[in-house]
Amino acid sequence: MAEMERNFIQDLIDSDLSDNPGMKVHTRFPPEPNGYLHIGHCKALCVDFGTARKYGGVCNLRMDDTNPAKEDTEYVDAIKEDIHWLGFDWEDRFYYGSDYFEKDYELAVGLIKKGLAYVCELSAEEFRDPKYCGDLTHPAVSPWRDRPIEESLDLFERMKNGEFPEGKYTLRAKIDLASGNFCMRDPVIYRIKYVDHHRQGNKWCIYPMYDYAHPIQDALEGITHSLCSLEYEIHRPLYNWVRDNVEIPGNPVGFPRQIEFARLNITYTVLSKRFLRTLVESGAVDGWDDPRMPTLCGLRRRGYTASSILDFINRTGVAKSDSLVDIRQLEACLRDELNLKAPRRIAIEQPIKLIITNYPEDRVEYFEVSNNPNDEAAGTRALPFTREVYIDASDFAEVPPPKFFRLKPDGEVRLMGAYIIRCNEIVKNEDGTVKEILCTADLETGNGMPADGRKVKGTIHWLSAKHAKSATLHLYNNLTTLENPSDKPDGKDYTDFINPESLIVVKDAKVEPSLEDAAPGEQFQFVRFGYFCKDTKYENTFNRVVGLKDSFPKK
Ligand code: ATP
Ligand code: MG
Repeated sequence: MAEMERNFIQDLIDSDLSDNPGMKVHTRFPPEPNGYLHIGHCKALCVDFGTARKYGGVCNLRMDDTNPAKEDTEYVDAIKEDIHWLGFDWEDRFYYGSDYFEKDYELAVGLIKKGLAYVCELSAEEFRDPKYCGDLTHPAVSPWRDRPIEESLDLFERMKNGEFPEGKYTLRAKIDLASGNFCMRDPVIYRIKYVDHHRQGNKWCIYPMYDYAHPIQDALEGITHSLCSLEYEIHRPLYNWVRDNVEIPGNPVGFPRQIEFARLNITYTVLSKRFLRTLVESGAVDGWDDPRMPTLCGLRRRGYTASSILDFINRTGVAKSDSLVDIRQLEACLRDELNLKAPRRIAIEQPIKLIITNYPEDRVEYFEVSNNPNDEAAGTRALPFTREVYIDASDFAEVPPPKFFRLKPDGEVRLMGAYIIRCNEIVKNEDGTVKEILCTADLETGNGMPADGRKVKGTIHWLSAKHAKSATLHLYNNLTTLENPSDKPDGKDYTDFINPESLIVVKDAKVEPSLEDAAPGEQFQFVRFGYFCKDTKYENTFNRVVGLKDSFPKK
């Protein structure tokens, strides 16, 4: 696997290591198991696992399941599968945030005893009331801040025991009601919630908030560097406060340390589990692994390789400020890879029949064609040639535009690797569409150059009609029409921007006979057409991963 480019996180770690000789870098990846991983998570994975690997350290996998809503073991299993697919390994360090509930509770009691947390009775409504939450110029207010420690201890225990309804009490950290950073204005660290937890069942009816639970989980696991995306930057003082005030022995002073990096944003791609789940639940897509989805399982089913995705993430770099990456960069990474290794095959999207009138009816001849011009070792294969062949409708024009070098009335063209043919006559259906094209082949020339030295400019691909098999092709375009997802106008929803042409189904394409035996997930270059992958769900269906041509503006 390619190593990460030098970045600012490494600068910070280097300086930590020089201050703390012998420190072993220990990171974690903390997904919330409420959906499948998307390519944005892949960035976090590369940063978390990649940084640890770079320093000979280790990275934990931790399900951030402190919030009991919408979490499911289906997601846990899928997350593990996707991470292994990318080539990262947590070994025996797999944890659940919920495994620390007992410890979280105990440490909260410790904070109350130190006078650093109290039970508050403000309702959710009052919390939003400027009288209590304050604003930029006024501090927040809690009438319960000076509640005696004994009383808070008693109420907190009874909160845990289920004596109170939801919303009646919260536990708040006693920090600074006048702080300019609103996260520090005595944040709620526990709330009552009568929701079953996917692992803990109904054991708990109080749940810790992320900002409280996360530094504790990190500290308990001996994490040295807690790498996360930029939106957590303003939470860092709270992270540090919790770390420094709960009693967890063992970590060097000032550790674990949170470092924030910019999220991955990609054009025409909405990286939000919530939106992706909406698509799945509404049936707008064919599940989490629909090949249009930016999920890792969707990209995999589409035909993306793990290496091309990692290559893309490495090329985009690790930065301290947000930016938008062109989706064509991702496509280019796959194209670069498959161009070198994908076997060439022939597929015809819109077949029209061509009859070679001077070719014997029962004759079959074989022409050798290359399996990959970029890789001689890939060898050749024999394509059967018969009197009736299919070509693609786009390679024929009855009224050709200027400089049209494919097949046209009275024109000549090379059938790739085989004969030069001349178009003599067009036979039409009753509705005026082309039924078949009558041609003659230059049999003298075979697949070589014409003896008279005449030049034939165009070469088109073809398949013997008798041998070709039918297949379904799925051609994909961007799932949404919004170039910059952060430009979504207020009041609009991402579902308003679904591209109606994101999937084009081609039912009666013709393909080479050998493709009948293609293994699900196998990738090919369909000559002059694109890179395709045999679908893993539907029979006899090929997904176009990307087109052949790079439409990315050259630097
Ligand atoms: P979403 O908004 O899609 O629900 P999330 O951040 O809530 O994403 P988590 O499961 O909490 O999802 O994410 C696990 C980790 O992945 C977090 O550390 C988060 O910062 C990181 N992450 C999520 N999306 C991106 C992204 N687009 N780029 C980089 N890191 C990301
Ligand atoms: Mg999250």
